[in-house]
Amino acid sequence: MSQQTVEKGYFGQFGGSFVPEDLQKVLDILEENFEKFKNDPEFNEELRYYLREYVGRENPLTYAKNLTEALGGAKVYLKREDLNHTGAHKINNAIGQILLAKRMGATRIIAETGAGQHGVATATACAMFGMDCTIYMGKHDTERQALNVFRMELLGAKVVPVEQGQGRLKDAVNAALADYVENYQNTFYLLGSAVGPHPYPTIVKHFQSVISEESKKQILEKEGKLPTAVIACAGGGSNAIGAFAHYIEEPNVRLIGVEPEEAPTLTKGVPAIIHGFKCLTLLDENNEPMPTYSIAAGLDYPGIGPEHSYLKETGRAEYVTVSGKEALEAFQQLSKLEGIIPALESSHAVAYAMKLAPQLSKEDIVIVNLSGRGDKDVEQVFEMLKK
Ligand SMILES: *Cc1c(COP(=O)(O)O)cnc(C)c1O
Repeated sequence: MSQQTVEKGYFGQFGGSFVPEDLQKVLDILEENFEKFKNDPEFNEELRYYLREYVGRENPLTYAKNLTEALGGAKVYLKREDLNHTGAHKINNAIGQILLAKRMGATRIIAETGAGQHGVATATACAMFGMDCTIYMGKHDTERQALNVFRMELLGAKVVPVEQGQGRLKDAVNAALADYVENYQNTFYLLGSAVGPHPYPTIVKHFQSVISEESKKQILEKEGKLPTAVIACAGGGSNAIGAFAHYIEEPNVRLIGVEPEEAPTLTKGVPAIIHGFKCLTLLDENNEPMPTYSIAAGLDYPGIGPEHSYLKETGRAEYVTVSGKEALEAFQQLSKLEGIIPALESSHAVAYAMKLAPQLSKEDIVIVNLSGRGDKDVEQVFEMLKK
């Protein structure tokens, strides 16, 4: 465990667990089991098996030659999470947590989802492992994301539209937590990003760290040295923390998280407790989490993982913003130059790399974590470009 992890899920002042007592008991059981299995050789062998045979790891670290030449500075490499089964990094965590759930004797998985991407990853992994799967989704979100609801149902999941509150992600989280507390003896709550009360941010980082474990080995093989910078987009922060993890203790590697200008949690947030943990958060005038809007649904979250909050506070990582317009440009550029259509989320990281690389020298190397593929976004981009 890295030195960043202070006792019981604190990263400096951030993280922790601020939940009712009955939920805390359930989280303690989860923590105990995670600690027991994360270094278990049989567990890890099974995890590696599914990452290889089902997810398709390891995925390549592709040299983006045309983009590099167009930018005229640092060499740009792309870590290809877009090539995973289901087309993004979320499946790494879904598989890891389901294997843990199985070890804990759970037969039923629950999750909550906003845009539907985590719900789809969870439903996918549940289908493969033969787990009963229930996905909570705000009623409003089920209407906006009807196709993802259908996808989850195709995969055998039960999607529960949550009508309480405003029928959004927050209300779906509450419904999922209530289910978890009531049914924890056979049910596992599969959380999708590096957020939430301890031990979730630590669990999600653990299962996403495979990204930087691979990229570090790959860049040393290809270039014989570490990158100058690693760039990743940050919504809740799971692909970014996974892309950073194995470089955190390499002080010469710059770690850069990219947020949408429209949801600048780390750039403009203040320390506050939301959804059971402390992090930098955007608050409105009533001290409630601020509603955010990004063209990339996966980046649309008013908080951020506690470890990112800490990496920002200590200065170990830098956090920057790019606008939706810049992300849209990058989406088109990468498609044209490399034949790779990136997810709109990942396009934020690409957009920042396009700003940074020309300022660096040809000796420098930049790794961009391509968190997902953009097929899911093509229709939305089509509509946006028409306007
Ligand atoms: C969900 C998602 C994100 C944002 O989530 P993080 O937890 O911040 O990684 C980024 N990219 C893609 C492709 C996603 O599906």
